[in-house]
Amino acid sequence: MINKSAHELHSLLSSKRVSSLELTEAVFARIDQVEDKVKAYITLTKEEALRQARAADARLKAGNNITPLTGLPVAVKDNMCTQGVLTTCGSKILNNYLPPYDATIVAGLKSAGAVIIGKANMDEFAMGSSTENSALYPTRNPWDLTTVPGGSSGGSAAAVAADEAVLALGSDTGGSIRQPAAFCGVVGMKPTYGRVSRFGLVAFASSLDQIGPLTKDVTDSAILLGAIAGHDEKDATSVDLPVPDYRKALIDDVKKVKIGLISNLLGDGIAPEVKLAVKAAAEALAKLGAEIVEVELPSFEYAVSTYYLLAPAEASSNLARFDGVKYGHRSGGTKDLLNMYYNTRREGFGPEVKRRIMIGTYALSAGYYDAYYLKALKVRTLIKQDFEKALGKCDVLISPTAPTVAFKVGEKTADPLAMYLSDIATIPVNLAGLPALSLPCGFSGGLPIGLQIIGRAFAEETILRVAFTYEQNTKWHTQKAKL
Ligand code: GLN
Repeated sequence: MINKSAHELHSLLSSKRVSSLELTEAVFARIDQVEDKVKAYITLTKEEALRQARAADARLKAGNNITPLTGLPVAVKDNMCTQGVLTTCGSKILNNYLPPYDATIVAGLKSAGAVIIGKANMDEFAMGSSTENSALYPTRNPWDLTTVPGGSSGGSAAAVAADEAVLALGSDTGGSIRQPAAFCGVVGMKPTYGRVSRFGLVAFASSLDQIGPLTKDVTDSAILLGAIAGHDEKDATSVDLPVPDYRKALIDDVKKVKIGLISNLLGDGIAPEVKLAVKAAAEALAKLGAEIVEVELPSFEYAVSTYYLLAPAEASSNLARFDGVKYGHRSGGTKDLLNMYYNTRREGFGPEVKRRIMIGTYALSAGYYDAYYLKALKVRTLIKQDFEKALGKCDVLISPTAPTVAFKVGEKTADPLAMYLSDIATIPVNLAGLPALSLPCGFSGGLPIGLQIIGRAFAEETILRVAFTYEQNTKWHTQKAKL
């Protein structure tokens, strides 16, 4: 039962062949079995989950107010506020933080009748690509426990891949949903900037952050996106556009769809087996009737450098609020305020977060602002224009999600630049605010490879249609990690 998709389980639940309580208990039994190895969660909320499952069963029994999520177990990344439930962001500085409110998307899940299993592990403040920057412990990849699950939403992706949750939510600032989805062989979608409310998501880089689904298949991605998308008056950046029924976009047909294969993401630095798998996916889509053309987006060369000025600049400002006064950890024993700030931040933040705060503060400082921050903003516009040109000619663009399959635990921890390059294909999409999805398109050495599909702003439906067609006509998504 626990390895089924959300839409399969929804029919079992609504026809009363399974109860939400049985399902939720089965997921917790699975967690007991494998969590020691995977470490996907920071906090499990079993009692509350069982209570929510019973409430969902009552709702299913009464037969009204049933949504596609009613009774389904969901994991939530630990940077989304959950009222009264520990929300650490994978950081020591928030090791005791109990939010007084729910993030809008968490409140939405609850009112849809979903069952929240717990809070998923992550790189500290979502800074990282392997979940090794979690202050608690690293998460492991269910396909091979000696490799990383990707990051920063590694806990969410691993939980879905290991059947420790049916669905999960992650956040994506530079690839943190799509890259772990690729590494763990699941489907991950970063919606258009503004499509999903960020109220109650602890901010990393506010002009880039977006919440999105991690799921077992494309249909589940459409369902979960539909449940979280929409305008929120508490988030001024959320857009007031109607939310389509994304399931209607799940059409097994790509005839007349024009797909641009991003040629400069199939060059140096991309592993040969990844290139092969992505080219094979393009051929498969061509056989299904799509028109494939090669496109070049030359400014991508500057995307990683641009991101590593803008994201740290925003982070240095956003993280100023963690000073021991209102939130989380406070250093004891200091007599004056300034040293309390210093010590709290010294003790509370890990090395990668400190590195970002320093880079960001430097990039924003008087005298360097024009040379770095402002210049990066201008390059961001060039990257956007490259996308506009390519997406003016094509309905969607495709590329590898990540340059390699999952790497070994510890392989890149000593070399931040090598780690940053894991996001070479995902970062440009955040800089342009566009939607993109990753889904499995092959294996290398027993590890999954991800295909990235990028669309026009608010055209998640086109992405879903291409992804669904590819999935219906291939078998990659039917393979499971053998733990
Ligand atoms: N890996 C990138 C970083 O470290 C992206 C992280 C994210 O998307 N949250 O910043």
